[in-house]
Amino acid sequence: MRIPVYVVEDRPYDEGVEEGKALGPETLREEVRSLREDPLLEPSCGQMSEAELNKLLQERMETEPDAGAFPELAELHPEVITRLRGKADGAGVSLQEVALHDYLKYRRHQMHWWKMYQIPPPEDARSAGGCSGVILVGDEIWLGKNCDCTPEEYGTPRATDKVVVKKPRTGYAPLPVVSEGGIADPGGATVGIWMDEQHEDVWPYTSFPLLRFAGSVAEVANLYQRYTLYLPGRGAHGYVDRNGEAISVDNGFRRVGVSRARDGLIWYTEGYFQSEDMRQFLAERREVFAERFDIPLGSYHNQYFADCSVRFTNMGRLAELPGDRRYKHIRTVLEDHSPFPRALCRHDVPERADYDRTITLVSYTMDYARRTVYERYATPERYCCQQQDHVYEYVIQA
Ligand SMILES: [Zn+2]
Repeated sequence: MRIPVYVVEDRPYDEGVEEGKALGPETLREEVRSLREDPLLEPSCGQMSEAELNKLLQERMETEPDAGAFPELAELHPEVITRLRGKADGAGVSLQEVALHDYLKYRRHQMHWWKMYQIPPPEDARSAGGCSGVILVGDEIWLGKNCDCTPEEYGTPRATDKVVVKKPRTGYAPLPVVSEGGIADPGGATVGIWMDEQHEDVWPYTSFPLLRFAGSVAEVANLYQRYTLYLPGRGAHGYVDRNGEAISVDNGFRRVGVSRARDGLIWYTEGYFQSEDMRQFLAERREVFAERFDIPLGSYHNQYFADCSVRFTNMGRLAELPGDRRYKHIRTVLEDHSPFPRALCRHDVPERADYDRTITLVSYTMDYARRTVYERYATPERYCCQQQDHVYEYVIQA
């Protein structure tokens, strides 16, 4: 199936207006009222008065970033403010009200994720999600990913008949529409549970469009290192550029580790960091977590940790097998059924470890040069490895 990709100019003001109109003044004010009372915000901005909050937000909006240290932020700043102005005009409220709404939602989102990792895990804790990604560079560039989750989350084939991406392009919804810089990204793998620090409040920069500013994986690595505060991920991510340079980035709050592909091969998986410092850091965080909640040694968490390392090693073994470094080779990795506790292609079978209920719900293989994705979905009747691919060719319109 051919999917046309339309590249349009990004219009922050117009988008803000649309967003504001869709929300309307009543809903916006009602959401602010309820956010002001949200217990999740109590440890952070919940204690501040309306006047204090307004003052803070006004200062943030008026403070332009240091263009020497953060030229990219300096470029983003007017867009971010313009979007907020558009939203205020669209909703028919003041900029101050929109700023407060935006800020409280942003902080709540941060606190929600932080809180999730502050509660003791239940006795019968089980893995609920996870993913693995691989990039193989030979005479062509191919990428692959398995998305693993609990069976309740079955996916469905894309109903997309066209894709619109914004210029300057940041990638990637849907893959593999590469960025203007030519970088492709098969998607990330979470390393969440032990990375329980709080995200820093960097409003109004609620997200940082990394790929907008990167023209090579070397620049991706550089941006990760300069923008740690603005890229508070919890996981591993692979990137490849048009020259076939590939990296995996381990990311946890202010810490980043970059691993380069060896002989054109790189892979990553949930629950594991491959760069040395980040692997060490993860081990330390895991120990803190286990001590804090008095988690027994034979428990889910330790089994899971061991599993993730085993899976990472197994992926490497499979990636390093002689192969075409194209479709078939990627499938060899993603369809592995080794008798490890958690093989790459996960099934709901009785003999697997009882703490793991995940199955491979979606598995895709991507051909970088042809912008083509081969995607398959598990159903309650058939596993991913027993399915046919849906083939999507993304064609950028002139
Ligand atoms: Zn299978």
